[in-house]
Amino acid sequence: METTSLPDPDCWLSPLARVDRSPIEGEGLFAAAPIAQGTVISRFGGRLVTDDELRRLLTRAAGTGNYVDTLSIRRDLNLVLPPNVPNHAGNHSCNPNLWWVDPYAVAARRNIEPGEELTLDYATITDDPSFEMPCSCRSAACRGQVTGRDWQLPQLQAEYGQHWVPVLREHIVGS
Ligand SMILES: [Zn+2]
Repeated sequence: METTSLPDPDCWLSPLARVDRSPIEGEGLFAAAPIAQGTVISRFGGRLVTDDELRRLLTRAAGTGNYVDTLSIRRDLNLVLPPNVPNHAGNHSCNPNLWWVDPYAVAARRNIEPGEELTLDYATITDDPSFEMPCSCRSAACRGQVTGRDWQLPQLQAEYGQHWVPVLREHIVGS
């Protein structure tokens, strides 16, 4: 198993990305300038907690209106983001222009034109088998719904290669 480097305490968002209203959903991230393939756009920071600690945080936040923003990093290891960071405004697409390049960072999957919405495939983020979200991203590859089980699809494994959060890379290697 790879070792897990510690995250930065804060998130970082490239000045090449800006938050705006999205035709997909709510707010999204958009290219403020041309972005070359491979450019890191967003780096997630915060603190690492176990599943038990995360459950406690979620229980404590329930009903308070506070939203706990979290990413799965490894088995029993979750990153809790600082509150109100713009990094998580990125919407899902079944044909995303961003993908994971290390445990905490996403980069451009291809060259991106100014004004294009910046998207990730949520299937590359979550292994929660209960996660399901309808999708109408209108890409030719649209799956109609995104689930926490999509990482099992051979065509997605072929399409994304190593570009998954580490816990999903572990699942894929072990599957
Ligand atoms: Zn879609």
